[in-house]
Amino acid sequence: MTAMPSTPVYTNIRRILEQQRASLLAALHHDVRETCAETVQLGDEHDPLDVSAVTAQTDIRVSLINSRTRTLAAIDAALMRLREGRYGRCESCGEPIADARLRVVPFALRCTRCEDAKETADRAERGRGMLARRLADQRHASLSTPVNVHAEPPH
Ligand SMILES: [Zn+2]
Repeated sequence: MTAMPSTPVYTNIRRILEQQRASLLAALHHDVRETCAETVQLGDEHDPLDVSAVTAQTDIRVSLINSRTRTLAAIDAALMRLREGRYGRCESCGEPIADARLRVVPFALRCTRCEDAKETADRAERGRGMLARRLADQRHASLSTPVNVHAEPPH
């Protein structure tokens, strides 16, 4: 048994992944610093229009932080798979991921087919979650008044 030689393609991918990881980390640090600065700014802001502008900006930054954190986790997973020799295989069906896809998304964990299926499932899941929250809000709204009416007087 001979160890699988590390192919030049994958050596290249490791370097790309490590570079992406470093620049993502730098971007994340920047985002977190900016978000903190904006939050401090919010405390000093008295104009409601400015407050909502800053809040909207912070919302965008927070969703950016979330998506960068997800990408970072995917890059870490891909680097681990490289180390373990599992890189390039779909996490769901075990089939090789197309080279063309890996060149565009070096941290892809699934083949295009499984990724599409997962995205469709995630969207459906999010849709259900949103509906459940809306229903809960409605229930909460219709309950809040009677609860106050029947509240026990303080002893
Ligand atoms: Zn697959």
